[in-house]
Amino acid sequence: MLTDPTRGELLYSGKAKQVYATEDPRRILMHYTDGATAFNGLKKAEIADKGVINCRISAFFMEKMAANGVPTAFERIVGDRDQLCQRVEIIPVEVVVRNVIAGGLAKKLGLSEGTRLAAPLVEHFYKSDSLNDPQINEETAVLLGWARPWELQAMREYALRVNEILIEFWGGLNIDLVDFKLEFGRLNLDGAGCATAVVLADEITPDGSRLWERGTGRKLDKDVFRRDLGDLSETYRELYSRIFGAALR
Ligand code: 5GP
Repeated sequence: MLTDPTRGELLYSGKAKQVYATEDPRRILMHYTDGATAFNGLKKAEIADKGVINCRISAFFMEKMAANGVPTAFERIVGDRDQLCQRVEIIPVEVVVRNVIAGGLAKKLGLSEGTRLAAPLVEHFYKSDSLNDPQINEETAVLLGWARPWELQAMREYALRVNEILIEFWGGLNIDLVDFKLEFGRLNLDGAGCATAVVLADEITPDGSRLWERGTGRKLDKDVFRRDLGDLSETYRELYSRIFGAALR
């Protein structure tokens, strides 16, 4: 039987998650809280059970990705709100994949939301709360030393594969995947950092995705909170039931 890892030092405290060391230097515990923030922390709330729901949803998708050839840092769920993951160095370049014009893209270019793009659009953002995650291109990421060209290539390939898998999954639930954000990590393969691999890290949840119900266009993601469209806890419970075929208990 697997023994549960011990929660050690708090390494990082984010908006909806905390990361703790474990007794194994190669592994961390990622703890999902009920906290929700929007507009880079300007809007804040506690959403009942969001941490439990997102922990399970992300674990479900990470396992699906690993089974489909996308390596991830996720290992297993521990308790209700924790995930044991491989320790990685987070690459400070967020990858957004868009299938439909919405959100930041619509705002930046003065476009209305809802137009399907001819092909998935991959965008890059510099992970920096103090700068509000500005958009960058791959050349900037390389020249400023944030990611190597081969890493960016792997990130793009994995992100597009994740998109295909998620489109198919959500489509089966009558939900359109509009866009989502991914983060990747550098896994130290030899202990010295001479050999590294890129793996999918962080989370795949409705906090970082746009999910629109087919036919109605109803939003089933964190935009419900960002735009005051209803009760986010209820929305996430509904999404949970649709994914797992049973209500959260
Ligand atoms: P946009 O650039 O339109 O604001 O976001 C594009 C997609 O990435 C959306 O699905 C959004 O939820 C996700 N995203 C972008 N930045 C963040 C972030 O800092 N936190 C979270 N949770 N999601 C983000």
